[in-house]
Amino acid sequence: MSDVLAISEHRQGELRDASYEVVTAGRELADETGGDLHLGVIGGDVDTYADELNLEGVDAIHTVDEGDEFNHDVYTQTTEQLFDATGASYLLVPHTVNGMDYAPAVAGKTDVPVVTDAIGIAHNGALEITREMYSSKVETTVDVDSDEAIVTTRPAEWEATETDGDASVEAFDVEIDQDAVGSTVTGFEEAAGGDVDLGESEFIVSIGRGIDEEDNLDLIEELADTVGADLGSSRPLVDNGWLPKNRQVGQSGKVVTPDVYIAIGISGAVQHVAGMKGADTIIAINTDPSAPIYDIADYGVVGDLFEVVPQLIEEFGGT
Ligand code: FAD
Repeated sequence: MSDVLAISEHRQGELRDASYEVVTAGRELADETGGDLHLGVIGGDVDTYADELNLEGVDAIHTVDEGDEFNHDVYTQTTEQLFDATGASYLLVPHTVNGMDYAPAVAGKTDVPVVTDAIGIAHNGALEITREMYSSKVETTVDVDSDEAIVTTRPAEWEATETDGDASVEAFDVEIDQDAVGSTVTGFEEAAGGDVDLGESEFIVSIGRGIDEEDNLDLIEELADTVGADLGSSRPLVDNGWLPKNRQVGQSGKVVTPDVYIAIGISGAVQHVAGMKGADTIIAINTDPSAPIYDIADYGVVGDLFEVVPQLIEEFGGT
């Protein structure tokens, strides 16, 4: 019987989807080990977060009020102490910018092995982690030869738990060694175009190299506005400096899970697909009927985007 500790995540006062997903991952693992699921809630408004995250499958919630800003040293120390105090064997942390930052540090301090970017976790007597390798071309299983492990879980790989639960909630007394806090957070600044977090979008219109020229992007922006979608893109447009980095979908960009993803003039390279294959419905518009994007599309229009997109704008109420 091994307990599991999962850590939630918020940004600027808003809980992230990854918090609800890591609960699912944690519950599944705890079911396989026969243990309890503890949830660590670190942040400013922790009582509100704990209320929100009192979800089915969570046995105990431990809140730590350490302010809303993410600080590497504070999160590392807090998580290390929580891991120790709960007696959990496995620590799950969302594989986000924050999680990637502090989870390996906790591993370093506790001397517990860490496996990052998991897309699957199983326990058949020992921990088995599924990860992708070689630009998502192959999946590999990592057998963890230890009774303890730290695992970062890739966002959008587990369904979010949304049903309410009845976990106990307790404030956890953490002792931060201020001498070991080497960094100070002076503020939070959104990246260019940071008004949108595609990871949380429900409807994305995404554009690729088929757009041909930067000036043509107006057409796709008009479509996105018309249908009420957020604008995404493949990597070449970001590399060209036509769109900010936070619009890039894919292996080295955002992993997105919208209800609808329209891929326009995007070939469907494996690195792009790695970021959007979790969309519920995928619609492709491409001149090339043999483009790989059609292998995963639910619906497709084989045609020139400069003819198809204006028709869509007209159909859905634009000019
Ligand atoms: P192309 O592959 O050039 O496809 C353009 C498509 O547009 C074609 O299918 C063409 O038929 C179609 N087209 C052309 N004209 C029209 C028209 N008028 N109407 C309709 N269709 C048209 N890529 C990402 O997207 N995201 C990533 O995160 C990412 N990470 C990477 C990481 C690594 C380590 C590497 C090596 C590569 C990565 N890439 C990533 C790049 C990836 O391999 C592809 O090069 C890229 O996705 C291709 O973008 P694209 O589909 O827009 O362009």
